[in-house]
Amino acid sequence: FVEMDHIRKNFGSLEVLKDVSLHMDAGEVVSIIGPSGSGKSTFLRCLCQLETIDKGSITVDGDAMVSQPAGDGRSVYASPSHVRAICRRMGMCFQHFNLFPHMTVLDNILEAPRIVKGMKTNEIMPTAEALLKKVGLWDKRDEYPSRLSGGQQQRVAIARALAMNPDIMLFDEPTSALDPELTGEVLRTIKQLADEDMTMIIVTHEMAFAREVADRILFMADGIVQEEGTPDQIFEHPQNERTQNFLKSML
Ligand code: ATP
Ligand code: MG
Repeated sequence: FVEMDHIRKNFGSLEVLKDVSLHMDAGEVVSIIGPSGSGKSTFLRCLCQLETIDKGSITVDGDAMVSQPAGDGRSVYASPSHVRAICRRMGMCFQHFNLFPHMTVLDNILEAPRIVKGMKTNEIMPTAEALLKKVGLWDKRDEYPSRLSGGQQQRVAIARALAMNPDIMLFDEPTSALDPELTGEVLRTIKQLADEDMTMIIVTHEMAFAREVADRILFMADGIVQEEGTPDQIFEHPQNERTQNFLKSML
């Protein structure tokens, strides 16, 4: 469903991604783990075009968003409107949930479908209600974000991304800004999406969660996928010494 091939990304002279590839099937859950600064967030941001890539290609559902010309040239992007259309199929949920502070929970959910898809409130309402019930926050629909706990805010952020009916969800450390007692409720929400066969890429430092939710784990270090495999392969029988050391450090 997603094909990212030979992605390279530099920030100035810093090589952050040095030839990273990922092929995912629809319904697959991939978790990316690795030390701080290894390029995990950058890789995710390259997929949803919060960053441009220097080299490599990205195809979503057979639709080329960025292609790599033959030879050694830079990647070539599809037209901006085409790129936007592809990225609209991705839901994002990052560490800092960035809800609109001046809008109620419900309006936070309704906003993007209204603005981006031009939908009317009554058209989106059934979906918004179902999503807020799914994350257990329908009774908080008229509250403002500042009156919610971090975990509740993050669940609203997830519902907000789902309101656009994405084909893939991208999570970047969705619980790392939360107090430990609030991470569970957010992880359960993500697990529920996995059980419903949502295609997802999850960058996380929660090893137990990655192990439970992911079909496949990518261990990234120094801008390279050092090792990948099933949770069992990576957590029980890591082959690469760097993976072994990283996992020891996470205990
Ligand atoms: P963490 O686990 O701490 O979130 P990460 O694996 O997500 O780390 P990235 O955020 O992808 O790491 O950063 C990889 C490297 O790229 C870091 O050295 C970082 O300083 C650098 N970097 C990231 N974004 C930028 C930017 N916009 N400009 C310059 N350098 C950047
Ligand atoms: Mg990061």
